[in-house]
Amino acid sequence: EETHSKSRSLYAEAIKVLPGGVSRNMICRKPHPDYATAGTGCHVTDIDGTVRIDFANNTASLIHGHAHPAIVSAVTEQLQRGTAFSMATESELRFAQHLCSRNQSFEKIRFMNSGTEAVMAMIKAARAITGRPKIAKSEGAYHGTYDYAEVSQKSKPENWGLADSPASVPLARGTPQRALEDVVIVPFNNVDQTIDLLNQHKDELACVMIDPLPHRAGLVPATPEFMEAIRAWTTENGALFALDEVISFRMGYGGACDWYPNVQPDLTSLGKIIGGGFPVGALAGKDEFMACLDPTKDRLPFPFSGTFSANPITMTGGLVAMERFDRAAVEQLNLLGNYARKEIEAAIHSTGTEACVTGAGSMFRVYLKSKTPTEYRSAWQDADEVQKINFLVDHLYHHGFMMIGTCSAALSTVLGKDEVDQLVESLAAGFQKLKSQT
Ligand code: PMP
Repeated sequence: EETHSKSRSLYAEAIKVLPGGVSRNMICRKPHPDYATAGTGCHVTDIDGTVRIDFANNTASLIHGHAHPAIVSAVTEQLQRGTAFSMATESELRFAQHLCSRNQSFEKIRFMNSGTEAVMAMIKAARAITGRPKIAKSEGAYHGTYDYAEVSQKSKPENWGLADSPASVPLARGTPQRALEDVVIVPFNNVDQTIDLLNQHKDELACVMIDPLPHRAGLVPATPEFMEAIRAWTTENGALFALDEVISFRMGYGGACDWYPNVQPDLTSLGKIIGGGFPVGALAGKDEFMACLDPTKDRLPFPFSGTFSANPITMTGGLVAMERFDRAAVEQLNLLGNYARKEIEAAIHSTGTEACVTGAGSMFRVYLKSKTPTEYRSAWQDADEVQKINFLVDHLYHHGFMMIGTCSAALSTVLGKDEVDQLVESLAAGFQKLKSQT
């Protein structure tokens, strides 16, 4: 603990002004979080001088690591000319053009400030377009903190309900019953049961919202059959196919959507990497649907605004970051992800650990399960498993590697095989330690 003394004393002050001493639950470490002072490339330094290799990248949002020189210089130049105006800026136009060029279904785009906001706008747009109240989402999937989007997040086994009709479990105490009734929970990747559930609510559903690589439901990709079945069902039943690519956009040049050539979503929510390190969200989609946001129309079905939406700092940083995440960069990063998963599998095998690795493209997640999870229920970790995962994440942290708290990683373009090899070596040592404990 002596090596963490500055962080420890900052935290003692923090608990007096921040609930639990933190502003985001996920950075809450025991006995206290460490305080970052600087990041460059793939390294982050904390206030006590410890340097770690960053495999978390601010929960998958920093595609080029920290303080990328091209982003720093473009944003610095914009900073000197102002940060936000009650006027349009050219930066939003240029960024919109770039993003729309990456995916055929992005005909129009509206910028906002977080992934939560993007998901909320997507749901409200779907309601405004269809005039229907309900949404469907997959069990356990994380989509941010809008009331409707957070139903069934982190739901515990005793509340799940039957496998063929998962319950609408509230996350926050006091969630209105009406909100729960307006969310239909479907089992991820289970085509028959999903279609059956959708049919039970077909005249009331505004959209079916899917994250094609849900981190909280196993970090396994949606199957093409699942995506195609939902595409067909929504088209036939007058509902929208709403794709949440806040985290998965990094999977392809046009997002994880590129994995499913037969499927085009109606609306897509974006966030994280597209901000170049700054707060961002966006809703993109077909012109006919995005028109619900058009304030020049006489009748405006969905009025939506935000003080910092499309601010030129985010737009400028985002454009530089995304231009540099071109097809070649996406491909190279996904190959590094394949390499990491392969090496982790080898470490699992050589240490004889009951574990598996899931993920795709530039993300992976380690589970201490012999059977690879396929959806939320099989991905569920009991207290014992969570404790072991925490042990592994702590072990990595103390050896200089920052993971997402679930023992997941999101690669950045400034990481290479060297860093992955170091991580895997440390992970293997962690597996050995776990074994010697039990
Ligand atoms: N949707 C998905 C799939 C996400 O992963 C997240 C964030 N982890 C969000 C929405 C919410 O984004 P934000 O944290 O920017 O509000």
